[in-house]
Amino acid sequence: MSVLPADMPAEVVHRVGTDGAPLPADENVSMFRPRDVYGLLRPRSVEEVRDIVRSFAGAPKGPGLHVFSTGRNWGLGSREPARDGAVSLDLSQLASVREFDLQGGWAVVEPGVTQLQLASLLEGSDRMLNVTASSGHTSVLGNTVDRGVGLRHQRTRDLAGLEVVLPDGELIRVGWWPRESGPTAVNPSGLGPNPLGLFTQSDLGVVTAAVVRLLPRPEAQRTLRASIPRRHLSDALDELRRWKAQHLVSGVIKVYDTVSNRSYGGAAGDFVAHLCVDGTAETVEALTRVIEGEAARCGLFSDIVRSDDHPPADDDFVAQLVQRGFGGDPSHNEKVLLSAVGTTAEAVDGEGSGWVFFLPLVPFNGPALCRAQEILEQVGAETGISPGSTINALDADVVDLVVSFSFPRTDTAVSRAHAALDLTYELFEAAGFLPYRLDAEHHAWTDRLSQDAAARRFVRRLKHVIDPSGVIAAGRYA
Ligand SMILES: Cc1cc2nc3c(=O)[nH]c(=O)nc-3n(C[C@H](O)[C@H](O)[C@H](O)COP(=O)(O)OP(=O)(O)OC[C@H]3O[C@@H](n4cnc5c(N)ncnc54)[C@H](O)[C@@H]3O)c2cc1C
Repeated sequence: MSVLPADMPAEVVHRVGTDGAPLPADENVSMFRPRDVYGLLRPRSVEEVRDIVRSFAGAPKGPGLHVFSTGRNWGLGSREPARDGAVSLDLSQLASVREFDLQGGWAVVEPGVTQLQLASLLEGSDRMLNVTASSGHTSVLGNTVDRGVGLRHQRTRDLAGLEVVLPDGELIRVGWWPRESGPTAVNPSGLGPNPLGLFTQSDLGVVTAAVVRLLPRPEAQRTLRASIPRRHLSDALDELRRWKAQHLVSGVIKVYDTVSNRSYGGAAGDFVAHLCVDGTAETVEALTRVIEGEAARCGLFSDIVRSDDHPPADDDFVAQLVQRGFGGDPSHNEKVLLSAVGTTAEAVDGEGSGWVFFLPLVPFNGPALCRAQEILEQVGAETGISPGSTINALDADVVDLVVSFSFPRTDTAVSRAHAALDLTYELFEAAGFLPYRLDAEHHAWTDRLSQDAAARRFVRRLKHVIDPSGVIAAGRYA
């Protein structure tokens, strides 16, 4: 007896539990408890996705669908659903770039399209992709709908439109889509209430394609690397904020602390800030001079070097990744992944060393970021596991602080890492530094962190109207 609807097309069923039992548990690199998953479905087309959804909608209430694109959500639960009792819907085989337009600045991608795939299509063109620091084999769409962060900005800023299969099988396109009758300018908000945001961090539909914006490629680009002694950290971060606010630097300012530099395979030493300077060749020269002058004047940086004079050392994988990544090239990301978890993308969940993330937003100012560092030091002192942190300044006001815990997969180390993660949630919440993405273990924090109970009820009402029988399993943000 199978828990799948009776009319499920056999060709999409990749694995199913025998006699109604869950599948043997898969591992995840965070060593979170594997959930009970009753089957794994792998459609190859949008029509097959619709057939699956319609079968679930027409069947008696049972396990709901847990959707992922390439399932490389490492550090947050990988492919695991938030709750027990789901059937996984793996969309990695829908992997075509359906269309792209260099002049208009957009591409229509399916869930299985990877960063490497799209970035390599754009090589040598005057457009580029906002790539992340994760593996080149991760999904552009998957990361975007989870509101991930690239080297240029948060990925949702690149999101123009989504194609979604609703829980009754209807296919809709929200946001902006290319028109067959001729080019139109990209307008993600459309007219009237905008449903685009309803389908990110969402269990309201199955996303089968996205329109992502392609950024104009700068004519010239250089990365500056500035070292910050710990005693100057607060003032130096305020100075970097000023540079960001005055548009001296482009993209995300990344500041790696000593632990994160070590775990991602970067240079040893203090805090290292990576700054992207770009534009025409002349503006890059001018901005570099201005920044070097400001750095000399303030005296807060122990060293500042330019990527053209000082290319990243052969063993500085972080500097290599960041420099290429600012230019939309994810081809150096695998070395950082290897440093972080000790293996390649294919083997991370099965063989990689343990890894969890905590992802809060922190105001971009020296005192707030130093307070966050103090909390992380407290977590290290109380639990014996020292988190690494990377400051990702998204703009002049907001930092995405990537906190990572690396640990061996032994019982003691796993419990210590999970206890450290729990403590980090508690201490950061108390300080007002709230996460913007959650891992599968901490999904209940969505309610806890909600600023308005009525707004949560509104979202639940929507879910009930659109998906009364729970065709799509409650997700990490439900
Ligand atoms: C060393 C290292 C560096 C990393 N760097 C970064 C980084 O710079 N930025 C960053 O954001 N992350 C980073 N990550 C975390 C993670 O690897 C990426 O976010 C990755 O892109 C997520 O996996 P994925 O692309 O396969 O998405 P998936 O795992 O496929 O999707 C993520 C989630 O989105 C939802 N979802 C996905 N597809 C659909 C769909 N079609 N319909 C509905 N819902 C869907 C599901 O909830 C799913 O769990 C890093 C991880 C490591 C280990």
